[in-house]
Amino acid sequence: MEYNVEKIRRDFPGLDRSFYGHPMVYLDNTATSQTPRQVVEEIERLYYNHKANVHRGVSSISQEATDRQEATRRRVAEWIGAGSVEEVIFTRGTTESINLVAASFGQRFKEGDEIILTVMEHHSNIVPWQLLAMRTGIRLRVVPLGSDNSTLDFESYRLLFNDRTVMASFCHVSNVLGTVNPVSEMIAIAHSHGVPVLVDGAQAVPHMKVDVTALDADFYVFSSHKMYGPTGIGVLYGKRDLLESMPPYQGGGEMISSVSFGGTTWADLPFKFEAGTPDFIGIAALHRAIDYIDSIGYDAIYRHEKELLDYAVDGMKGIEGMRIFGNSPHKSAVISFLIGNAHHYDTGMLLDKLGIEVRTGHHCAQPLMRALGIEGTVRASLAMYNTKEEIDMFLLALRRIAPMLA
Ligand code: PMP
Repeated sequence: MEYNVEKIRRDFPGLDRSFYGHPMVYLDNTATSQTPRQVVEEIERLYYNHKANVHRGVSSISQEATDRQEATRRRVAEWIGAGSVEEVIFTRGTTESINLVAASFGQRFKEGDEIILTVMEHHSNIVPWQLLAMRTGIRLRVVPLGSDNSTLDFESYRLLFNDRTVMASFCHVSNVLGTVNPVSEMIAIAHSHGVPVLVDGAQAVPHMKVDVTALDADFYVFSSHKMYGPTGIGVLYGKRDLLESMPPYQGGGEMISSVSFGGTTWADLPFKFEAGTPDFIGIAALHRAIDYIDSIGYDAIYRHEKELLDYAVDGMKGIEGMRIFGNSPHKSAVISFLIGNAHHYDTGMLLDKLGIEVRTGHHCAQPLMRALGIEGTVRASLAMYNTKEEIDMFLLALRRIAPMLA
């Protein structure tokens, strides 16, 4: 079936903007994606007709809300290949999911224990472990980039494991380089040392089918807002035995079995980790985002984004002074670049004046910037709704501004 990008675009009214008299070309999908009307209309419908708190007893309206939230949980579980629905915890996002694991699972670690991270991590997969290190005295060991400055130094990864290693945590896809890490092999190596793994899937789930059971990930985390869903919702997948062995992260309503001043007992999974009222409307609408992705299909999305990525990179290579960061053969549709010695901010500002919406800066990956010997990049990132015409506009804009920046 032919990929009908115009039909897809009609579902995304947010794309229909212009800046400085130019139609907007939205190329900041790594930061957040636009949201289809199917999701927004569901949010509106639920706010107007079905606003009732979840897990609040016998009222029909509350029961409906609970059913909707739990239907999304089942949908997510089946979608990512979780072994059971209780292994899916709703959080506020990737960041909160990682903080939850670091704070709760991390309580078992002690001084001298080592956690393996990589140099290409987003700050949200670095700082929670540093906070844990401050509390417990664990050490962080960091996998460097290989000589291609794009992929991880796999041999270093292998050699970092020793009898003090207690955890490994790394991204599936880099938000700066677009590199798709060989997570399956990386998990297998960690497991051969008896080490559990957290995979940060924030940049994978919007672009590729993820099966946590096939990967054998111990924890897998992602954010709804980057995968065409509502803001403020994330998922933590965890293997049941690990989640069961972990103490609660936050205390409050819903996460308890019974409370007394003599002692409190916890609710069963998944509720043990879901203190307080969740964003139950957003969670229900996340269901529609998953349905939307499935209605297009990951294979079709991948082919479309890859075609645009190759087309954009080919065009960019012809531009004087262009430096692209991230040349892994397994690369997602993220292009980080600099033009000559021009500051990323100046490039981004000029692109903005032409309606091209990109991201500039360190992209919450300062250790990676340091490893690359730069302060920041300009980042153009694609989604299922971008078009070849938009890439042409992007390339035209780059050709216009490059001489000004030289
Ligand atoms: N990890 C990666 C790889 C990311 O790209 C991001 C978002 N830029 C995050 C984690 C954090 O996601 P959130 O802000 O939605 O928690």
